[in-house]
Amino acid sequence: PKPVLTFGEPLAIFTHPGSEPLSSNRTFNLDFGGAELNTAIGLSRLDVPVWYAAAVGDDPFGQFILRELRAEGVNTHLVEQTSLCPTGAMFKLASGLYQDPAVQYYRSLSPMGSGHWRGEDALQAIVSGEVGWVHTTGITWMLSERTSAASDELIRAARENKVPVSFDVNVRRKLAPMDTWKRLIERIAPYLTWMFMGDTEADALFATDDAIAVLEKLAAMGFRGDGMIVKRGEKGASAVVRGKRIQVDAFPVRQVVDTVGAGDGFNAGWLAAYMRDDDMDQALKVASIVGAYAVSSPGDSSGYPTLAQVQSHLAGDEEVRR
Ligand code: ATP
Repeated sequence: PKPVLTFGEPLAIFTHPGSEPLSSNRTFNLDFGGAELNTAIGLSRLDVPVWYAAAVGDDPFGQFILRELRAEGVNTHLVEQTSLCPTGAMFKLASGLYQDPAVQYYRSLSPMGSGHWRGEDALQAIVSGEVGWVHTTGITWMLSERTSAASDELIRAARENKVPVSFDVNVRRKLAPMDTWKRLIERIAPYLTWMFMGDTEADALFATDDAIAVLEKLAAMGFRGDGMIVKRGEKGASAVVRGKRIQVDAFPVRQVVDTVGAGDGFNAGWLAAYMRDDDMDQALKVASIVGAYAVSSPGDSSGYPTLAQVQSHLAGDEEVRR
């Protein structure tokens, strides 16, 4: 199969393990993440060939991120390294149970935050028919005007070349106010094939988290895609596919450790399974297994399962234990 292309900014992540405010902490652990990068790793672990398009600085953190991606089997030939900008970074408190961690971004000078990245190589890959699917999130559009314009071009090219585009809204209020996210969706809805969002995002954007009601509002914005999925954390997820409503429960976990990255992993599980055999129930089940692994371990992507692990659960192993 042709690879999936994901694009979006990677970040060096400095996590403070304690609970006092960032301003009084002195120790951080180095990690890395980024919604699209997480999904790329999730796909690679499920044996789906994946190309990640992005940019990092030609600096120690950029090298660290590239090395980790390569170790995960993600194809990085579309990751630009530039000496003109530093790699984007984020500092955060380790997340408490079900609460979003306090974060501080340092990405306005980064290659995608400053508008250095133009995505030309990714565009070429789409136009020349090298990739079979494109996945990204709304975060990418909020980094800079030029990154937003480059992202527009990529999804337009995908649409023109009949490459499906899956898109997770992934609202980050620190990056832009809710109105800006709303306008983005209104503008790009016609180019998208699949939409993912969290239930609270659906509520904030569409004043409802009912999947059918959301889909109707999306259709009024010009969305003509194949379906949309609302993620509901421990309550599972619901999807509407070609008019049909499908529901999946969360997969049982013994202990919730860190919920960050669950949504990105869920997307990877869904994509991997859906691309293989077009079976929505199965795809949602695989997605929730990956989400369950993600919440059972610390870090964004480190806990994502392999294909063999997913298959053991599909064959009847009924709980994720870590
Ligand atoms: P984020 O962007 O913070 O990762 P999201 O809104 O995209 O969040 P969630 O709904 O939080 O995603 O989680 C995605 C999926 O992960 C859920 O649909 C569910 O399958 C799984 N999941 C999340 N929380 C739990 C949990 N406590 N137990 C089991 N599975 C969970």
